[in-house]
Amino acid sequence: MSDILIIGASHSGVAAAAALRSAKYDGSIMLVTQENVLPYHRPPLSKEALSKDDYSPTPLRPETFYALNQIDLVQAVKIVALNLAESYALSEDGTRFPYGRLILACGAEPRRLPTSVDADGIAHALRTHDDLIGLKARLAGAKSVAIIGGGLIGMEIAAMALAKGLAVTVVEAGSRLMERTVSKSIANYVLDRHLNQGLHVRFGATVVTIVRDGGRDVDLVTLSDREQIEADIVVVAIGAAPHENLARDAGLEVNNGILVSEIGRSSHPAVYAVGDCSAWYDPVLGRHVRNEAVNPGQDQAKIVAAAIAGASPPPKRLPRYWSHQAAIQIQMSGDVNGADMEAVLNAPASGAFSVLGFKSDRLVAVQTINAPQQFGKLHEMIGIDRDAVAATLDVEFPPPHHH
Ligand SMILES: Cc1cc2nc3c(=O)[nH]c(=O)nc-3n(C[C@H](O)[C@H](O)[C@H](O)COP(=O)(O)OP(=O)(O)OC[C@H]3O[C@@H](n4cnc5c(N)ncnc54)[C@H](O)[C@@H]3O)c2cc1C
Repeated sequence: MSDILIIGASHSGVAAAAALRSAKYDGSIMLVTQENVLPYHRPPLSKEALSKDDYSPTPLRPETFYALNQIDLVQAVKIVALNLAESYALSEDGTRFPYGRLILACGAEPRRLPTSVDADGIAHALRTHDDLIGLKARLAGAKSVAIIGGGLIGMEIAAMALAKGLAVTVVEAGSRLMERTVSKSIANYVLDRHLNQGLHVRFGATVVTIVRDGGRDVDLVTLSDREQIEADIVVVAIGAAPHENLARDAGLEVNNGILVSEIGRSSHPAVYAVGDCSAWYDPVLGRHVRNEAVNPGQDQAKIVAAAIAGASPPPKRLPRYWSHQAAIQIQMSGDVNGADMEAVLNAPASGAFSVLGFKSDRLVAVQTINAPQQFGKLHEMIGIDRDAVAATLDVEFPPPHHH
């Protein structure tokens, strides 16, 4: 029996195991994952991994880390059920994994198009190293790609394909790119940069069907306005859904993520959840919030580890996100769509600048383009008022540009 059983050995699960050891927790720890690759960094999959011919996954930790820290890493095992009353997880082959406490770090999976749209499963999704290998094999001989979804991952794939000289069309149901993650001003700036590279975009368009024209060896994407796009390969990047079935079937509370408290505890006192699979209670907003990014999951892992080890909780940090789209590096934090006024530091024409979002004269969001050092400084200021931000930065903001 493991004192701590962690299901999912990716960014959040590995961070939880590491944080427990850092907090001097000395019970036994087992990390179980269904993937068969040493736990690796996922963000590069839509970035350098796609462009480099000789890419191999970047391990989160060296192989020796697990043994050195007495973390029992069990790979290629899928958990299919939880028995909370008897405190064990059950794997596909019927093995029981008994635990003292359970940490669910099972992440998310890409949303798929309904079978009525993509009956033959033509569109490629990208979440795992295996997905990457399949996608790269198809991209190798391709001249054109249609990408369904203009969010961060879709745009990263688009930027990479443009750099390789492919004809790229992005189909986005909304009226602009990256609506959930960046403000309109940043989205428009990034769109212009990609349009200059030859990107084609269809806004306000949904996909009705995707079929393969075997005779001509192309995929045909039919849009709601009947337009047809031909592409050698179709990629779908329309967001991710939390892996919450295990939790739901075991009777835990879920609602777009496994619902947990401010310290990551689920509706069962021995079960915690961290990372993309979890929705944490935010006392300021008065509701549960699910993040899909590396940093928030790692921060949550530290909070849970401190709670289990009886250590004092780490300082709270706001979620931070990043995206690399060819030469454009975006970093963001805070309520990017909640600002009623934006101020720009440095000239966008220089290719490196920051956008500060204020709401009622308080800094609520920071977004930077190619300015990582500025981001590090600025995002710590979220929450303070406009005059204090100006004084700290020793700047005078240009006349406010109200939305
Ligand atoms: C292509 C791509 C690019 C991204 N780029 C960025 C970026 O630039 N910046 C950023 O911050 N975030 C990025 N993200 C998001 C980031 O990768 C995720 O937020 C992060 O991986 C979440 O980590 P996690 O450990 O919570 O979940 P996951 O990484 O999803 O890991 C969960 C693990 O649990 C395993 N698992 C699930 N169910 C079971 C089961 N029943 N039994 C056994 N194992 C199971 C899964 O196979 C998986 O290995 C990107 C994601 C993708 C897909």
